[in-house]
Amino acid sequence: MPSLVRPDRRCPKCDSPKYAFRARKTVESPDGTQEVETKYRCSGCDAVWKERVPAPAKPATGEGNAA
Ligand SMILES: [Zn+2]
Repeated sequence: MPSLVRPDRRCPKCDSPKYAFRARKTVESPDGTQEVETKYRCSGCDAVWKERVPAPAKPATGEGNAA
């Protein structure tokens, strides 16, 4: 079995498993590490919530992406 299956995400308000992806951005946490913040909106009650996970290691491609 693959171990990278994400657990089911549910609305924190109404516990509905139906949600829509809204936005994703990389943010810097207070301790200086990069985190990916993803925003979701519940399809049932319209609640919006965010989830943060550690950002994957930056690929050292050097393609002129001056962030
Ligand atoms: Zn909801």
